[in-house]
Amino acid sequence: MRVPRWGIGRRNTDTVTKSEQRRCKWCRRPFDAATGRQGRPRLYCRRSCRQRDYEARRRREELGLTEGELVIARAQLDDLADKLYVLEAAVEDVERDLAEASEGRDYQEAVAWLLDAARPLVQWRPAQGPAST
Ligand SMILES: [Zn+2]
Repeated sequence: MRVPRWGIGRRNTDTVTKSEQRRCKWCRRPFDAATGRQGRPRLYCRRSCRQRDYEARRRREELGLTEGELVIARAQLDDLADKLYVLEAAVEDVERDLAEASEGRDYQEAVAWLLDAARPLVQWRPAQGPAST
């Protein structure tokens, strides 16, 4: 089964944002990294994420991919693209509406509309478990 290859730029996703809040290297959820053993900061929010990342790394090596490349199931990529499309449409709607709006209520509705479109993206996470497709 063919899956798309993503060439993604190297980003430092392990940056400490505030206090010891980090983002999980696998699922990107924020978590408290203060409780690391051996004085090393934790990279994953939970064991299963560490395992998923390990499996992905092994699979990457099997496929001869570089650190900056990622294999993602077509269905997951399509799902993400759909959610981005909804957000893009909402941004266009809001920009058009607010160009004519003058009341506070218009702005409230615009923000609510944008939040509804943005929430599915905020909640999006890579699927747990190895890609089966
Ligand atoms: Zn995680």
